[in-house]
Amino acid sequence: MTERLQMLINGAWTDGTGQERLDSHNPFDQSIWATIPLATDDDAARAVEAAHRAFRGVWRRTPGHERAALMVRLADLMEARAGDLAHVCSTDNGKVIRETTAQMRFAARNYRHFAGYADKLHGETIPLDNGDMFDFTLVEPLGVAVLITAWNSPLPLLANKLAPALATGNTVVIKPSEHASASTLAFGKLIEEAGFPPGVVNIVTGDGRIGPTLTTHPKVRKISFTGGLPTARRILQAAADRVVPVTTELGGKSPNIIFDDADLGAAVTGAVAGVFGASGQTCIAGSRLLVQDTVYKEVCDRIAEKARAIRLGNPLDPQTEMGPVANSQQYDRVLGMIASAEKAGARVAAGGKAAEGEALGGGYFIEPTVLVDVEPDLTIAREEVFGPVLCIIPFDTEDRALELANDSDFGLAAGIWTNDLRRAHRMAREVEAGVVWVNTYRASYVGAPFGGTKQSGHGRERSWHALLEYTQPKNVMIDLSGSERDPFAMKL
Ligand code: NAP
Repeated sequence: MTERLQMLINGAWTDGTGQERLDSHNPFDQSIWATIPLATDDDAARAVEAAHRAFRGVWRRTPGHERAALMVRLADLMEARAGDLAHVCSTDNGKVIRETTAQMRFAARNYRHFAGYADKLHGETIPLDNGDMFDFTLVEPLGVAVLITAWNSPLPLLANKLAPALATGNTVVIKPSEHASASTLAFGKLIEEAGFPPGVVNIVTGDGRIGPTLTTHPKVRKISFTGGLPTARRILQAAADRVVPVTTELGGKSPNIIFDDADLGAAVTGAVAGVFGASGQTCIAGSRLLVQDTVYKEVCDRIAEKARAIRLGNPLDPQTEMGPVANSQQYDRVLGMIASAEKAGARVAAGGKAAEGEALGGGYFIEPTVLVDVEPDLTIAREEVFGPVLCIIPFDTEDRALELANDSDFGLAAGIWTNDLRRAHRMAREVEAGVVWVNTYRASYVGAPFGGTKQSGHGRERSWHALLEYTQPKNVMIDLSGSERDPFAMKL
């Protein structure tokens, strides 16, 4: 049966003011399993107004320990319902259940982690030369934040934004992707159950057309966006008009670099997991594998063998290792990029085409694909594929590895596989990326900052750095002298 989902505006579940709905497709079998409201501009504006009233009225005055208690309750609920939420996520975007279940725990941990900050945010006192003046700062929330997420990991991406936003006293309007909104709406039920006041968290669904209403609304004071570069450009331009700060978490073409002194078994497993996990649909996918020429052939062979052995299947089956890609657009785009790469000279060592079979439900499956002998200037080696495609490029020296790694418009993540401690430190310093892993890949921890450089975006999520994205210091200076000062010489 098709589920008929609603949006959350001002604490009430609603179809919105329009009549239209969007279908949610299950990428495993292409069935329509739910419908979501297509929000109108009016719905989007109502959500912002509700968030603004909640900010002014109750939330910014709610003591930190009370905000924390609500967030801890939310984390408890998320953990208790991790199985149900993971089921919705996997049905909606095709990610395997073993990953979405882990993601729910990760997201819950985010709320618990940032709850710990909610009652510990404080300013500083600043000593002035003149004891007659007293200077201090207040740490204040920004106001209404619009949180826009991508379809590949809706709830973990949301937690990266929502946890610090709530902990610091902001209210929010969430806009999930039209391709995967159901899990965010299911999460909205937990917001309600946890007891957050109406309007603190609002969720509007639909397509990108309501984006401009949200990003240009005069009452919005912050935008946090996870998605692709073209949308980011539009949002940054919209925000520029009103000088609204924007955090951007964008794509990548992350280099994963294997030196010949590495533990090759671990490096090969790390490289495979780094790109085929989540069917390659992660911003941090290690999609450019740079391998030292002395071990190049061996590594290519071992990776191709492992790629061929990856178990494809129903994302809801805990044994499945790789699911389909999330939608028909992705499916066509990824297959098109593989075909163009082959035509341009890349050699297919594994996969390379659509995967078919009875166990695959007729969904959007693509074989885990390994392309070898890839010239670094090929499109497939430079642009984000966002699918299960690995390019392998050989290098000879450490300098050449670094040159190849940094020759990219992106700068999100990098992996370095080596047993040479000095080389690990040298490379970690020199590689242009917001996140560097040494002898591991795709590891995440809520207390460690996450974000990109170059066209992978700016701003940081997770850790105390995220608090800076949702707060501003206010400086207060008090004259305690009680005497009149020369107004034309007011300097300290
Ligand atoms: P996208 O097409 O840019 O969409 C992202 C979000 O923006 C969606 O919710 C989309 O809504 C919304 N949107 C579209 N037009 C808008 C507008 N004019 N104003 C405001 N919002 C608008 O990206 P995607 O295809 O969903 O996600 C894939 C990209 O996300 C990849 O590049 C990936 O690398 C990146 N990503 C980055 C990270 C990170 O943390 N760095 C994590 C995950 C994904 P609709 O979908 O409804 O149109």
